[in-house]
Amino acid sequence: MAKSDYYELLGIKKGATEDEIKKSYRKLAVKYHPDKNPGDKSAEDKFKEISEAYEVLSDSEKRSKYDQFGHAAFGPGSRSGRGGGFHDPFDIFKDAFSGGGSSIFEDLFGGSRRSGGSNRGSDLRYDMELTFEEAVKGCEKIININKLDSCNSCKGSGASDGGQNSKCSTCDGQGQIIQSQGFFSVQQTCPRCKGTGSTIDKPCNKCSGEGRTKKSSKITIRVPAGVDSGARLRSTGNGEAGILGGTPGDLYCVLHVKEHEIFERDGDDLLCEVPISFLQATLGAEIEVPTLNGKARINVPTGTQSGTILRLRDKGVKNIQGYGKGDLHIRVIVEVPTRLNSDQKAKLTEFGELCDDKVNPMRGSFFEKAKKFFS
Ligand SMILES: [Zn+2]
Ligand SMILES: [Zn+2]
Repeated sequence: MAKSDYYELLGIKKGATEDEIKKSYRKLAVKYHPDKNPGDKSAEDKFKEISEAYEVLSDSEKRSKYDQFGHAAFGPGSRSGRGGGFHDPFDIFKDAFSGGGSSIFEDLFGGSRRSGGSNRGSDLRYDMELTFEEAVKGCEKIININKLDSCNSCKGSGASDGGQNSKCSTCDGQGQIIQSQGFFSVQQTCPRCKGTGSTIDKPCNKCSGEGRTKKSSKITIRVPAGVDSGARLRSTGNGEAGILGGTPGDLYCVLHVKEHEIFERDGDDLLCEVPISFLQATLGAEIEVPTLNGKARINVPTGTQSGTILRLRDKGVKNIQGYGKGDLHIRVIVEVPTRLNSDQKAKLTEFGELCDDKVNPMRGSFFEKAKKFFS
């Protein structure tokens, strides 16, 4: 599949300023954000594409590389692109977590936050542990968290049974008041109803009129295939409930992936060490190796040295951005025979007598160099 030009994707000119790039990205990101287009695969793909374009063009170093080499600078074939490039589509929201000075996040979701106003519930963090397989293949996790949720007894309204929420008389239900100061009028949040537009006559006993109570909630989190430790998944609206039915916060799952007994992960590539016998290494052999999806057979060439890496293409981890799959690297470790009986020793000694430097060229050339060093 041919990749679209990053500038075209963002609808900007080649010489666009940082500001123009940011503005255009924000507009498109809001439009195609998966939360706004649930189940729409083409919107999701578009969102990934523009996020990727933004990641490159917003970074002056990556941008100049892209200007010079195009997609080849980061393409799926390029190690740098795969390994260090766009690992985590949620990276862009990471700033939000550290709290201060986040730009994109605040701007992107500021709209909904503002409409939630001061009644918006807090965002929550949940540390989720995944097995290696769950991270690599993707999974659905049901988690239980104790959080402020909409009050059952008043359904979030904050008013007790039979109690009514009446229109706030200070702002006439607008939630905003306009104060005149000389020639100017200034719009302010109504101090009496705090912007909700209504006042509670008899507050709910259970939540003291806040509209929310602490309770345990079951939440299903869909983990996409290919995630790794440190990735954050956002579950929209599953944070704390808002006050008096205000916008709920979001839940962020921070992923921690456990190590595997035989596979080691390096980005999308996997590494597995497989011991082979001295004979297999010497004479060559076809051996069985483990992969994520069962066993595979691989050819060990004649005269393979210990530490040699044999590659199985596309047997690695599915790339989270949809760039195919990584490779599986098999590192063969030649096992030196131990606990030989006298017969075996005799045969090997006999074999040794038949060998000269041609059989062990590495050893021969090493001692040639060593000789020079000592003379
Ligand atoms: Zn209540
Ligand atoms: Zn009011």
